[in-house]
Amino acid sequence: MSRELLQLSPQEFVRFLSDHGITRFHLVYDAASGAMAASHPELQPLADFVVADERDFMEHEGAFFQVSRKYDTLQGAFVHRSRRGAAAGGVRYWIYDTVEGYLRDGLRLSVGMTMKNALAGLWWGGGKGVMARNPEVDRDDPEARATLYREYGELMTRIKGCYVTAEDVGTSVDDMAQIFSRTRFTTCIPPALGGSGNPSVPTARGVIAGMEAALEFRGEGTLSGKTVAVQGMGHVGEPLIGYLFDKGVARVIGSDIDEELIARVQQAFSGENLEARFVELDDLSILAAECDIVSPCATGATLNPQSIRSINARIVCGAANNQLEDATRDDRALAKRDITYVPDFLTNRMGIVTCADEGAGYVTDDPMIERHLARDWEYSIYNMTLKVLETSRSTGDPPGTVALDMANALSLETNPIYGHRGQQIIESLVVDRWYED
Ligand code: NAD
Repeated sequence: MSRELLQLSPQEFVRFLSDHGITRFHLVYDAASGAMAASHPELQPLADFVVADERDFMEHEGAFFQVSRKYDTLQGAFVHRSRRGAAAGGVRYWIYDTVEGYLRDGLRLSVGMTMKNALAGLWWGGGKGVMARNPEVDRDDPEARATLYREYGELMTRIKGCYVTAEDVGTSVDDMAQIFSRTRFTTCIPPALGGSGNPSVPTARGVIAGMEAALEFRGEGTLSGKTVAVQGMGHVGEPLIGYLFDKGVARVIGSDIDEELIARVQQAFSGENLEARFVELDDLSILAAECDIVSPCATGATLNPQSIRSINARIVCGAANNQLEDATRDDRALAKRDITYVPDFLTNRMGIVTCADEGAGYVTDDPMIERHLARDWEYSIYNMTLKVLETSRSTGDPPGTVALDMANALSLETNPIYGHRGQQIIESLVVDRWYED
């Protein structure tokens, strides 16, 4: 039965739920007994699968689901760990082949957010939203999107703030406004509604901080006079190139798959030493450029055994999420070649940082934001990068592993004001049978 449910497509699963009269359900972990319970007996096989899954299950506190009323779309909120605060992370709108793939994505991505938030010194836990896109619903239909995201906001309200959502792949700022119309438990709302706006510029500054720490660690001075290769000249890549020239780099080699964008960026930096290369989607040759630093700022999984062998730079530091194709194997492969890798989830934190602090209001040159980019706060990108790289040197563990170990320890610290409130919320949801009303 377990495998049967897991191998259903999300739409077949939605029909299964409908046949059993289920519109909302949960899977909740009991750390004391080590068991995971489903809200409905017919869904217990899913809970048993999750808790037995050694690859993606990491004692997640719970996961909450509903089927949208109008568009038969499975919507979920995964709470990995909420000791530091509410589980925060974006909601992904994506096509999944199976229920298993859907569950695994939520489990894996929510752990990633726990680690990113904890390493950033934020008092947030880690969570992720996942909506399984119904292929029969037009992704670009504004009416469908508005309905789906409003209903997702209703789910946030129902689960009472144990998970706080944000923007992610497949979700736009307009979608966030729809969510916000139904719940206070969201971030990344449009600036017109009091949100923090596009975080790409602070993200680029965060990458600069990571590069400077890596250079310092290697005893190679500052960015001045260096050559940097930037893969992807989009929202992060373009301002990054600007900051690099501000720092006095000798040369930037950029690449992108978008010819119009390349022309625009070339125009913007016409007086600078920028070589912009047009490449095909599967062309990773920029990683092999003769340079001091390579900065992946396009897509994930570009660092694999083959591309790592080709790298000439001594430092890899960029914004792209999940740069390592295999987190353990490729982390080690880079270290073995004496290439200093700055873990992506350390250096690209500014997106979640700017969103996560929205509730604290805004200050010009906001100290809550600036401290992440400065050198006088223990958890700044610069200081954490140095700490990770120095620990890596002394222990022999590669930087990604070291950063994860540090993040894991931080994620177990309990919020000094609210305690482990997320867990309390989850327990009360179960007792109150939230899925029934
Ligand atoms: P973006 O889509 O604006 O830019 C990415 C650019 O990469 C695009 O111009 C695209 O054409 C280009 N590209 C795609 N494949 C390429 C390839 N094979 N070679 C060269 N260029 C290629 O995205 P962004 O907002 O700049 O984000 C870049 C990366 O950083 C993404 O992985 C994103 O998830 C991550 N990230 C961004 C932020 C943020 O604040 N924007 C925060 C955290 C992480």
